[in-house]
Amino acid sequence: MRTPPVEVLPDPGLIIGADRLTESSAGTLEHRYAATGQVTRRFPVAGAAEVDRAVTAARAAHPEWAALPRDQRRRLLLRVAELIRDHAEELSLISVVENGMPMSLAAHSPALTADLFEYNAGWADKIGGAVEPTWPVEALDYAIEEPYGVVGVIIPWNGPLASIGMVVAPALAAGNCVVLKPPELTPWTSLRFGELLTEAGVPPGVVSVVPGGPAAGEALTRHPGVDKLHFTGSGATARRVLAGAQENLTPACLELGGKSANLIFADADLGAAVQQVVGSLVQLSGQTCLFGSRVIVEASVYDQVVEMVAGMLNYIKVGDPLDPETMMGPVVSAAAADRIMGMIDRARGECRLVTGGTRMSGEFADGYFIAPTVFADTDNDSYLAQHEVFGPVLSISKFTDDAEAVRLANGTPYGLAGYIWSTDLQRTHRVAAQLAVGNVWVIGFFGMPPSMPFGGVKQSGYGRVGGRDGIREFTRPKNVWIAL
Ligand code: NAD
Repeated sequence: MRTPPVEVLPDPGLIIGADRLTESSAGTLEHRYAATGQVTRRFPVAGAAEVDRAVTAARAAHPEWAALPRDQRRRLLLRVAELIRDHAEELSLISVVENGMPMSLAAHSPALTADLFEYNAGWADKIGGAVEPTWPVEALDYAIEEPYGVVGVIIPWNGPLASIGMVVAPALAAGNCVVLKPPELTPWTSLRFGELLTEAGVPPGVVSVVPGGPAAGEALTRHPGVDKLHFTGSGATARRVLAGAQENLTPACLELGGKSANLIFADADLGAAVQQVVGSLVQLSGQTCLFGSRVIVEASVYDQVVEMVAGMLNYIKVGDPLDPETMMGPVVSAAAADRIMGMIDRARGECRLVTGGTRMSGEFADGYFIAPTVFADTDNDSYLAQHEVFGPVLSISKFTDDAEAVRLANGTPYGLAGYIWSTDLQRTHRVAAQLAVGNVWVIGFFGMPPSMPFGGVKQSGYGRVGGRDGIREFTRPKNVWIAL
């Protein structure tokens, strides 16, 4: 395992307004490299006092930011995108060191985030409002799309750069200031992003970066100076966020977890389906919200698909995240590895283990590596099928007709994504309409363009990131009625 290039990490220190704070009321924490468990650097974590300072800085910066001519805001965001592209290699390396993401995956993140900034920069001079017809009294009635003011953004550790692109970019384009709280597991990308904003000429206070844990998160959700919350993370934490938000009735957008289904019909291109299933299992070690972790297969091809999945896993290179050939790295932390192993052990009593199910030893022993794991003959009511593992664990089960496929796919508390594998065009439209999810992919996942509205239903959350809907999350209409 290669030694992580710790020198690529930015200086530790909270970014609040024009200040860089190296000391904090909440003290410091150690960051560890997931592939070896070794400490990289210590960094200060934000407490309530620092969050309060950041919100104050955001409120102070907001009038000027909101009043900035649209073309200037557009150009600033385009400059941010340009800097992200210029620093792509550095940002990819930070991502690898930060959460153990393999370089083969991390290399794509900066371009994706730059795209999101460019796309949203385009909205900065287009969101305006609408003139509405009135009757029976004639009037001029118009609704202006206004920014909320200060948005508290809480992101997870699995893809900080992507989260920044999906959430911070539209929030800024709409004219809001942001207090960004990355988790204590992954402070580095967000801090480097904060530095790049300064370099781009974004005024101090428009974005403050306050890495921290639950205390910082709670302080942000309860702060009366926050006008809107945007939370990405687990359902359990979302409940805490809403409990905090209710104090000031702060509106919140929630992007939460999933237990998404891959529905594989007998007429599908099984090779393509299995390749995608295995790809999403190993991508970021199954730690993506979109992971189609339940594979539900038509009975006539069920045994064949189970065999193909197990066979294809033999070609997956698990290993050093810094090796560009590596397809799957570690999970994010020792605590995550213990939690995932606990869920695997529980699943052993419920379903048939096909492959994996172990912590990896030898050169992997000091890091947090779990072998890609596949369970078959999974009952949809089992613990495994009902709970998000957020690790490299797949469950496979079978269906006999379209109605059963849809019933099983919809049979969890989640509703994030669904994947349909069939060459029957009419069936794919019919099934897509019946899936209780926010996003459906048919015969392949080819990423998420910035124009795509993305989000969940049921316990996968509400609100959308991406596209026109994504920017509307950060504006609210003010209506003006003028009697004529
Ligand atoms: P998490 O809920 O543990 O943490 C998310 C964020 O909330 C972190 O910044 C954390 O520090 C913060 N937090 C913790 N306690 C808090 C509190 N009491 N108040 C406010 N904030 C608090 O989630 P995680 O482990 O970081 O991420 C994994 C989860 O995120 C999975 O469920 C995954 O599916 C989900 N996720 C969803 C999306 C999406 O777009 N739908 C994207 C990525 C991840």
